[in-house]
Amino acid sequence: MANRTLALDDTLYDYLCSVSLRENDVQRRLREETAKMPNANMQIAPEQGQFMGLLVELLGVSRALEVGTFTGYSALSVALALPAKGKLVACDVSEEWTGVAKRYWEEAGVADKIELRLGPGSETLQSLINEGHRESFDFAFIDADKTGYDNYYEACLELIRTGGLISIDNAFLEGKVVDPSVDEPDTNAIRAMNDKLKKDERVSCSLVPIGDGLLLARKR
Ligand code: CA
Repeated sequence: MANRTLALDDTLYDYLCSVSLRENDVQRRLREETAKMPNANMQIAPEQGQFMGLLVELLGVSRALEVGTFTGYSALSVALALPAKGKLVACDVSEEWTGVAKRYWEEAGVADKIELRLGPGSETLQSLINEGHRESFDFAFIDADKTGYDNYYEACLELIRTGGLISIDNAFLEGKVVDPSVDEPDTNAIRAMNDKLKKDERVSCSLVPIGDGLLLARKR
């Protein structure tokens, strides 16, 4: 018996997926197409997509926000879990990556639920604030350029309702956060985010060791 989180070796990870992973055909094909792309490691793990879908159901989310969409797997997982009238605002800078995403969103029948906004994340979030969407979202997922995280987090905190959840990806940054020889902007930004959240009294939080570490913060 273990009283700390177990490290998952390949065998245990395969077991986890075999007994628990639910992924539809469109999700699987999107994941496989993305895996062949140069930035494939920017795609979230499928069990993380499933977990985020469950969070969306648990919270009764009807309005969701995503910063960093890439080829759309996380958005697809969230959109599938949203109610029929639910909405996800997905922000990204890349027309090419989100072009892949849009094909699969169409195929999965969730394209109507997703509003894609192309442009720098900080500008898009500021536009949402300016358009009067403060405290109107139930859930946010931040998975974009790491040095922008603090800015995205602060903006999401304004856009999320009290009791809403902000989820922040790559809290482990492939283990670099604990490697003292790593001193570069992305890793330092993640370290700073993790440190900040631990002390941030505006939220309740938990770092969930799924995928590359998912930091959850519920707005108080
Ligand atoms: Ca990520």
